[in-house]
Amino acid sequence: MDKSALIIGSGLGGLSTALRLSSNGYKVVVLEKHSTPGGRMNIIEMDGFRFDMGPSFMSMTYEFDELFNTVGIKNPVEFEELEPLYQVYFEGKDKPRRIFKDLEKLEKEFSDVEPGLASKADAYLKRAGQFWHDTEDKVVKTNFDSMFKYLLKLSTVPWKHIPYLYRTMWSEVEKQFKSEEVRIIFSLVAFFLGATPFHTPAIYSLLNYTEMRHNGYWRIKGGMYRLIEELVKILKDRGVEFHFDTEVVNIGSNSGKLYEVIDRNGKRWQADIFISNADAASFRGQVLGRKKFNEEKLDKMHWTLAPFTIYLGVKGKVDNLEHHNYFLGSNFKGYADTIFTSSIAPQKPYYYVNVLSKSDSTCAPDGCENIFILCPVPDLRYKKDWSDKEELANTLIKDLSQRIGFDLEYNTMVKKILAPDDWAAMLNLYKGSGLGLAHDINQVGAFRPKNKDEHFSNLYYVGASTTPGTGLPMVVISSRLVTERISNDSTLS
Ligand SMILES: Cc1cc2nc3c(=O)[nH]c(=O)nc-3n(C[C@H](O)[C@H](O)[C@H](O)COP(=O)(O)OP(=O)(O)OC[C@H]3O[C@@H](n4cnc5c(N)ncnc54)[C@H](O)[C@@H]3O)c2cc1C
Repeated sequence: MDKSALIIGSGLGGLSTALRLSSNGYKVVVLEKHSTPGGRMNIIEMDGFRFDMGPSFMSMTYEFDELFNTVGIKNPVEFEELEPLYQVYFEGKDKPRRIFKDLEKLEKEFSDVEPGLASKADAYLKRAGQFWHDTEDKVVKTNFDSMFKYLLKLSTVPWKHIPYLYRTMWSEVEKQFKSEEVRIIFSLVAFFLGATPFHTPAIYSLLNYTEMRHNGYWRIKGGMYRLIEELVKILKDRGVEFHFDTEVVNIGSNSGKLYEVIDRNGKRWQADIFISNADAASFRGQVLGRKKFNEEKLDKMHWTLAPFTIYLGVKGKVDNLEHHNYFLGSNFKGYADTIFTSSIAPQKPYYYVNVLSKSDSTCAPDGCENIFILCPVPDLRYKKDWSDKEELANTLIKDLSQRIGFDLEYNTMVKKILAPDDWAAMLNLYKGSGLGLAHDINQVGAFRPKNKDEHFSNLYYVGASTTPGTGLPMVVISSRLVTERISNDSTLS
């Protein structure tokens, strides 16, 4: 008889694991707290407008091909590369800077402030690339059985990379580039990790390499949610069962094994193995009641910034926006230093804007545009009360309108705002942290919550806060690692 697997959560991590396990002969059931699948990679629909709720682009597309190829299917979604990667509006400047993968074009764009940029960027990216290739297989794509084995593996990474560990990303770009604007642009990727370049180790300049040389940035034709729709369709065809509005709040265990999980309505769900796609740290604290992950301990961990998001459907076409746009203020360091721990909403926010309707005409009515605004803000540990969310949304919309010369407020047809407390309540994101646990050196590799439980021999984890880390491709790698873990687990007989 087939073995049964129960997956808690239908984020990309949960769905990718469901695909791999169903292909390995498991009978899979997925329980999801929210009313739709996808977790953070979700969808919002309002009066003819369709918005991707969270992620708007991805790197390392080959990881998605691998996921489908492993189970004998051709990747059903089509990727479209972004070039320029994005554009950045600096405060006080009318014209945005466009960021190209093509270094000659990039040099031309910054010729007034950073002569010789192409060769400087080339040297910077080569170094970051060496680090990536020296660690990708050894550290990122490996399951570790013990801290000793992890440290042993780390010791085989060439020692020339050691300075990357203790320098910050900002000091790395400061060394390489003269212009403040170029430094800021090369350090923006730290925000993709939900952190700031002043708190992020220089090792993450490898993200500059993955965006600008290795694989680039891609969107999914028809919107990011297409990936979730395709996955769910394939899984249902393969007999995977889904139960939405079903939140796991408790467990039943016996002799070091889980035999059931219990949902909020008291229904009991049995299986041979269990995989939590709910946050690997907070699930251990809040559902399993582990002391090491109680609220006090969780609060002391480093979490990524919380999202404040606005979904705007507007009448008219907005010319001055690309697919990806950043709007920055004039005090980068000051902003970055306070953004994590402030108890008030940012007064001069830095934010990101995505316009899906630029590339997909089906996501907005004719002659309209759909605009997604994402502003990183402090999580609920620092700012608990978001009853002022309309005010912050108005500040953002007003600022954006002025900078692009288009009255968004006047032309708004639909609007939805999600503050950190909404994100937390909707998907159980710990205190509203957007990307889960941060990637400090002491929170990655064997230091990150493991993908196999410490006490229950048949409980595993997949997703952003377990290994290897957060972001869409990492979560797909996480599903491969946990599946390998399950396949090689001699305690499962
Ligand atoms: C605003 C925003 C923008 C982002 N942009 C990008 C981007 O452009 N590119 C990129 O690569 N990454 C981006 N990310 C990060 C990316 O979305 C995540 O790393 C990834 O989606 C995490 O997937 P996951 O499967 O680990 O978790 P999730 O997507 O959070 O899925 C976990 C699921 O488990 C469910 N769940 C939780 N607890 C329970 C429970 N007790 N019982 C039942 N169900 C439960 C949740 O409801 C959720 O559906 C972004 C994230 C955010 C928030």
